Amino acid sequence: MTTFAQSVREYENRCIEKDIPAETVMAFLVELSQRERYDLYANFDSAMPEDLQREFDEGMARILQGEPMSHVLGYSWFYGYKILVNGDVLIPRYETEELCAGILSRMDEFFGDRDEIVTADIGTGSGAIAITLKNEEPKVKMYATDISEEALVVAKKNAEINDAPITFLCGDMSEPIEKENIKLDVLVCNPPYIPQDEVMEKSVTDFEPHVALFGGEDGLFFYRKIFAHCHEVLKEKAFMAFEMGWNQREAMTSLIKEYLPEMSFEIVKDINGKDRMLYVYRNLEKEKNI
Ligand code: SAM
Ligand code: GLN
Repeated sequence: MTTFAQSVREYENRCIEKDIPAETVMAFLVELSQRERYDLYANFDSAMPEDLQREFDEGMARILQGEPMSHVLGYSWFYGYKILVNGDVLIPRYETEELCAGILSRMDEFFGDRDEIVTADIGTGSGAIAITLKNEEPKVKMYATDISEEALVVAKKNAEINDAPITFLCGDMSEPIEKENIKLDVLVCNPPYIPQDEVMEKSVTDFEPHVALFGGEDGLFFYRKIFAHCHEVLKEKAFMAFEMGWNQREAMTSLIKEYLPEMSFEIVKDINGKDRMLYVYRNLEKEKNI
């Protein structure tokens, strides 16, 4: 007989040996068992049921090989929504939840009195951002695009299981929005922004789609593309919201001055104190300290 405690401790030690965060073990067990963490701890010295033990062992074997837990489970949680993931989409990140919160508060601030807020999520991947914005702000009319047909299959499934009405379009950055002659109040994009040559963790580069990660030599390829075309898709008064790399502040600032000199912008830090979110305002006056 193996108890919960014995099994968890053993896998935590094996994770530490492999430089995998030990918290992964409990997080995985909570999802597999569909039980609350306190309930598991309260029964930590009881025997783990055989079926659960088998699933736990099989899953942990994959996690110890470096596979992301979300791939083993087949889903991840984002802003309280269950988001299916596989190798065709980026696993949504915590930082991106912060981006969504920032967008929702700015929608309130600028467009609170509107009946409709026309919004596009460019490079939607799993659909996490689009689903969150649509469901948290029902006034949003949501479009979501991606260049990857495979990603759109996953995004559509996620929109369905989360009851989020979204129009999906396939194409290069803002091009499908322009083609359909859609004019946006809000353009959101978490583009691939990792510089081409950056060395990354194997669990990311081996398991997540490279089309979702790499943004050319300096990581800024897709921002240039959007900045160059955004006038065609934005309404007169509109804002754009991007995720960005923690070390891209200077390069981003000069890019905006070059492409969008008439717009104002701010770069906001994430919860870890790293530059992470970029908001660009077209004919909107941003109040300070909101
Ligand atoms: N929006 C998702 C999120 O925040 O979790 C995924 C973001 S991921 C960093 C970037 C996404 O952009 C991927 O889904 C990728 O397929 C898509 N992509 C890459 N190149 C693109 C392009 N030229 N046009 C549109 N989408 C693109
Ligand atoms: N934050 C992701 C990572 O570090 C990358 C996301 C992106 O390029 N937009 O793996």
